[in-house]
Amino acid sequence: MAMRLVLFDIDGTLVRGGAGGRALRSALLKVYALPAGSDGVRYDGKTDPRIVREILSYHGQEDRFTDEKVSSLFSLYLSYLRKELTEGGDFQVLPGAHELVRTLDRREDFLLGLATGNIEDGARLKLERGGLESFFSFGGFGSDAEDRTDLIRIAIERGRQKNGHSQPEKSFVVGDTPRDIVHGKEAGADTLAVASGNYSLDDLKSYKPDAAVESLQPIEPILEFLSS
Ligand SMILES: [Mg+2]
Repeated sequence: MAMRLVLFDIDGTLVRGGAGGRALRSALLKVYALPAGSDGVRYDGKTDPRIVREILSYHGQEDRFTDEKVSSLFSLYLSYLRKELTEGGDFQVLPGAHELVRTLDRREDFLLGLATGNIEDGARLKLERGGLESFFSFGGFGSDAEDRTDLIRIAIERGRQKNGHSQPEKSFVVGDTPRDIVHGKEAGADTLAVASGNYSLDDLKSYKPDAAVESLQPIEPILEFLSS
């Protein structure tokens, strides 16, 4: 049977909340002694390592982006994230996310994966917190590539391997930012934009996704688009 690959972004698409940002800022303060949030760097749509690089670069310290420093930063980030996800109080699974993912998971003709800027362990923690982790066995992550196009390509390749090494009939990227659309297209995927993050439906439409919706709920028009 022909198989279609559906790759989900996480933040602003499946879940929302400030845990990731808070955890990263705490870790930046601890490891680099850099003040939180004064740099104007936007996080959404970017990979975790890219965010760190941009913040360091804002402070004129890009030479501190070393494997050793970045790896201690991210291990600290993960311990802060674990705590923020349980104690933060603002975590939310977005409307329609559970139902859509569960419905696609039951279908033989769809394969679910992730295409997210989160480092993989961070992605797992967020999905676990939302009860979504069992639906995702693979993906492309910020820990695979700093560039979003590259991590989407990696996710598609992993989907191909999961599919008995045969190319998916179509690959879709579902995400809430212009970057999901632009990099999704660049990686050869069809794109579904969802305005549940920080961008409006009109903002997203100006980047010409193949489809755009306000929310993952109702799921019927989305299922129709993914099947068309
Ligand atoms: Mg997002």
